[in-house]
Amino acid sequence: MGRYLGPVCRLCRREGLQLFLKGNRCLSPKCAVVKRKSPPGVRGKKRMAKISDYGTELREKQKVKRMYGLGEKQFFNTFVKAENKVGKTGDNLIVALEKRLDNIVFKSHFAASRFQSRQLINHGHFRVNGQKVNIPSYAIKAGDVIEARPKSKNLSIIRESLKNISRKGLPSWIEVDENEVKSKILAVPVREDIQLPANEQLIVEFYSK
Ligand code: SF4
Repeated sequence: MGRYLGPVCRLCRREGLQLFLKGNRCLSPKCAVVKRKSPPGVRGKKRMAKISDYGTELREKQKVKRMYGLGEKQFFNTFVKAENKVGKTGDNLIVALEKRLDNIVFKSHFAASRFQSRQLINHGHFRVNGQKVNIPSYAIKAGDVIEARPKSKNLSIIRESLKNISRKGLPSWIEVDENEVKSKILAVPVREDIQLPANEQLIVEFYSK
């Protein structure tokens, strides 16, 4: 299945949660989740009535997948790799998602959303350890340095996004040099370092059926 190209606010309404898919525009009181509590569609209100265990697990999987902006196949492949690693599958999954380059560019405040971050990476605006990397799923390692290429450092979308750095804050494992549009990975995060309103165990159960 291809990438979802429909209205993204619909995805948030479906999950009943702000997934912040539109960057700064999500802070507006016009946010669709703030304005309308029910899921989208004519049967939206009815759907809220009851939800099975399977439905709960499905919704948790969809929520995390949509937050990170992945398609089903990509998300499932990430899950399979997480399952094959030592440790708890749920923890491994969230850490793998968090280590993606598009997430790092977003969390460093070089982009206002993961979608925008992916576009910037696809267009070759970023380097990792001095080498151009245009693969959004690239997995960062401790000590990696992510930097906008010289010509891109003054792009208005990057500079606008950086204005949010003091208000939104940074994860403890990322260090950012705003002037240089450069971030350094101080350590690969563990699950406890990642603030995500999700119960990954439900995702593990969803895929275990
Ligand atoms: Fe989601 Fe942002 Fe739309 Fe609100 S404005 S529903 S958070 S994408």
